[in-house]
Amino acid sequence: MKGSHVGLFEGDEKVVVKLMAGEEANPNPNGLRNDSNAIKEASNDYGNIIHEIPSAVLYPSSVNEIIDLIRSSNNGRPAPFTVAAKGRGHSVRGQAMARGGVVVDMTSLSKIKDGIGIRVSGNYADVGGEQLWIDVLRATLEQGLAPVSWTDYLYLSVGGTLSNAGISGQSFLRGPQISNVLELDVVTGKGDFVTCSPNRNPGLFFGVLGGLGQFGIITRARIILEKAPTRVKWVRLIYSDFSTFTRDQEQLISSNAPNYVEGILITNENTTNEWRSSFSSPSRQSDIVSLLKKQGILYSIELVKYYDSQSANTIDKDFQMLLKELNFIPGFIFSTDVPYFDFLSRVGNLDSPQGPLESHPWLNLFVPKSRIIDFNAGPKNLAARGCLWHLASRGCLAGALPAE
Ligand SMILES: Cc1cc2nc3c(=O)[nH]c(=O)nc-3n(C[C@H](O)[C@H](O)[C@H](O)COP(=O)(O)OP(=O)(O)OC[C@H]3O[C@@H](n4cnc5c(N)ncnc54)[C@H](O)[C@@H]3O)c2cc1C
Repeated sequence: MKGSHVGLFEGDEKVVVKLMAGEEANPNPNGLRNDSNAIKEASNDYGNIIHEIPSAVLYPSSVNEIIDLIRSSNNGRPAPFTVAAKGRGHSVRGQAMARGGVVVDMTSLSKIKDGIGIRVSGNYADVGGEQLWIDVLRATLEQGLAPVSWTDYLYLSVGGTLSNAGISGQSFLRGPQISNVLELDVVTGKGDFVTCSPNRNPGLFFGVLGGLGQFGIITRARIILEKAPTRVKWVRLIYSDFSTFTRDQEQLISSNAPNYVEGILITNENTTNEWRSSFSSPSRQSDIVSLLKKQGILYSIELVKYYDSQSANTIDKDFQMLLKELNFIPGFIFSTDVPYFDFLSRVGNLDSPQGPLESHPWLNLFVPKSRIIDFNAGPKNLAARGCLWHLASRGCLAGALPAE
């Protein structure tokens, strides 16, 4: 609820006065804090570009504390505070900050024993908004189940990605993460605790999903689960021609046959060494580098098909059928076969314990199919370290220009 006018705890008047006077309150791990560590952390994010200084940070030890905070803000304060929920702070433009207001650090809810946590029940899981997707993956896999739509990076909070969209190479088939939610508990801007779903308070439900934190704080999300596959066939294919690259992507997503499709622009040698190309052997990487030097730019499709013991006998044949239709450079195919968990957690944990040490400008764009050729002719040069393409839906590519 960045920009909404809320205040601090009614029962914490003394703390409020101290905070407003700029004095440091006791840095208890929970509750309302304004010690320098709390303020420093809450005034930065992964982007490390925007720095908004809050008056205080709430480390809630219950959902009720969030409700109290927001209710007290509605109790006729003359100078209301802004409130912003913060998950992992992986925004890049200060979206989880609150200048002069209160940042609610949701991650402290994950440390309490009687919180929502991650509760798996059949075809869904009830998950606290503060939980990380990597933990949702671990907990659901224990029951042989998993959510169907992911982000590439899993050290992001459920509330944070559901306030955006949550996209990865599964989105063309399963929709973004916000399309795979059955129900939410939300603390609204008035401090009401409301359960919503497509049939119950639908306005709030659809407002909060993808709502950039402006319509309430998600404290629980009911996420759709399916039987988890056990392994994945995973290939990277190299192209030198952009039209052939996009045509093959379209062909793949129209077939609905793969479980995951992404693409990347290989603009310099560094790209070939990054995690995205990590399963090419060093000798094959040098082949790619030689080709890159000749062509100036290369394109790569990353393609995955899931399988389990029941489909293990047919997976190779099915995969060959898929590849037969494609027009990548002959011989430039790099394959591996890994457990499902290893595939989904392939990016690992990129977070430094000290927080971001460098700035990370990052731009996600959805480009209509009709303009994708123009896009290739222009902004690709901005992506000095490569450009990641998500096939968000048919006829629309999402280009992410990552950090410098
Ligand atoms: C290295 C990296 C990789 C990424 N990869 C992907 C990817 O593959 N796919 C993708 O879709 N995105 C990706 N992102 C972007 C990411 O999804 C968003 O930045 C997301 O917001 C991060 O979640 P967070 O927990 O850090 O949220 P924050 O940055 O903490 O918050 C983001 C927004 O959500 C709001 N918010 C946070 N928690 C809640 C809550 N419980 N209730 C209501 N609002 C809340 C905040 O106020 C803010 O507006 C990536 C980002 C980084 C830095």
